Amino acid sequence: MIGGAGSQDQDHPTPSEQPRSACGAGAAWAGRSARAEGPENPVPPTPATLPRMASLLITGGRFIDPASGADALHDIAVRDGLVAAIGKSLPRADADEVIDASNCLVVPGLIDPHVHLREPGGEHKETLATGSHAAVHGGFTTVCCMPNTTPALDTPELVRFVAARAAETAACRVFSVAAATKGRKGEELAEIELLAAAGAVGYSDDGDGIASAGMMARVLNMVSITGRAFMQHCQDPTLTRGAAMHAGAISTRLGLTGWPRVAEEIMIERDVRLNAGIGCRYHVQHISSAGSVDIVRRARSDGQPVTAEASPHHLLLTDAACDGYKTNAKVNPPLREWKDVEALRDAVADGTITILATDHAPHSPDEKALPFEEAPFGLIGLESALALYAQALVDTKLISWPRLIALMTIEPARLCGLDSRGIGRLQKGGPADITIIDPDVAWTFSQAEVRSKSRNSPFIGRRLRGRAVTTIVAGRIAMNLRAPR
Ligand SMILES: [Zn+2]
Repeated sequence: MIGGAGSQDQDHPTPSEQPRSACGAGAAWAGRSARAEGPENPVPPTPATLPRMASLLITGGRFIDPASGADALHDIAVRDGLVAAIGKSLPRADADEVIDASNCLVVPGLIDPHVHLREPGGEHKETLATGSHAAVHGGFTTVCCMPNTTPALDTPELVRFVAARAAETAACRVFSVAAATKGRKGEELAEIELLAAAGAVGYSDDGDGIASAGMMARVLNMVSITGRAFMQHCQDPTLTRGAAMHAGAISTRLGLTGWPRVAEEIMIERDVRLNAGIGCRYHVQHISSAGSVDIVRRARSDGQPVTAEASPHHLLLTDAACDGYKTNAKVNPPLREWKDVEALRDAVADGTITILATDHAPHSPDEKALPFEEAPFGLIGLESALALYAQALVDTKLISWPRLIALMTIEPARLCGLDSRGIGRLQKGGPADITIIDPDVAWTFSQAEVRSKSRNSPFIGRRLRGRAVTTIVAGRIAMNLRAPR
């Protein structure tokens, strides 16, 4: 079984990191030693190769389903990939496997609506296999990959290619967000309706914003016909040429060209005004500035269909992390200042920001070893995100665990139209995508543990609290940190 004695998968914490909490009372953790850092992660199990258990019973956990408002001590029975029952003291007799989740949270499988899995074209950084393996280790059962691959995901054939490849190799559900313009060049519309028919769950030219207001109006009009969301990477390119980090005192001292807040804000303001008469579902990706938050808050209070997502690094770090030319803190949009971090956190607390997304962006060590100005933007996020969100938002008492789970399940499911497929919630008859979280376990995000093919994260070495301990995709155990009993 996955995570069991016969698995290649060396799940742990290390012996020194045995959980302090009593999650799964009596359940021993695997406790094997940390894997030496090797050149490659092991080939991940795929849904097709995960052991097909006819039935599973999860007992004694705190069941939280934000979509229905449920929050109670309940068992969940799973049969043939679906939720068979939710309730108190369900019968154990016919379960093939029983998972003791006492002192843990049992929640809908986490959803990340913004990841870069690099396939096709960037397989030296990540693949659908390695990226999805990292995802299930972070508690995610569904990820939506961005179209800035090589070639860009701008045709129905490429969207179908990703779906087929994911079905063969991925450890979790993978959906595509398609490019809105051909080649993500912002010059010619992609085949918007055909992309939706091929399975695209949204549109974005992520990596770039759509610079032309005329093209943006056309995109909003076409995407509104599909009912899907347009997700904007908000960056006016004429204000950020050659920019490597946030424009402020530190960029000046380091002699680096700055990326000012206004380059993000001006595009959101433009789009909100363009969209006022169109009514497309408009989503701000990886929001980074306090001023952007104000624009989104105002648009939402005006009743516009505008949403925004925040990433772990923008909720915790400032541009000071770039000091010393640390390329693992080079990200786009850039890390800003503490007042921005506070504004983002407050916006999560007051419901202006309703979605959390990692913007998982793997890059090879060679690429991140380049001088700061030449190194690529981005950092990995899937495996550390849950604990980092908890640190920024729950430990600070800004939101509760149930609200955090909503921001990572039903809210992103609605953004991507997945709630209509039963994804993002747990209900009888729906897909059994389930994440079991130990909210109290202390652990260190160590390089040796990373399942992604890349290691670029400024959070490596950070002490964290709270972790997904079991991830179940379509009723199959895709990740399990606890030893089999
Ligand atoms: Zn982006």
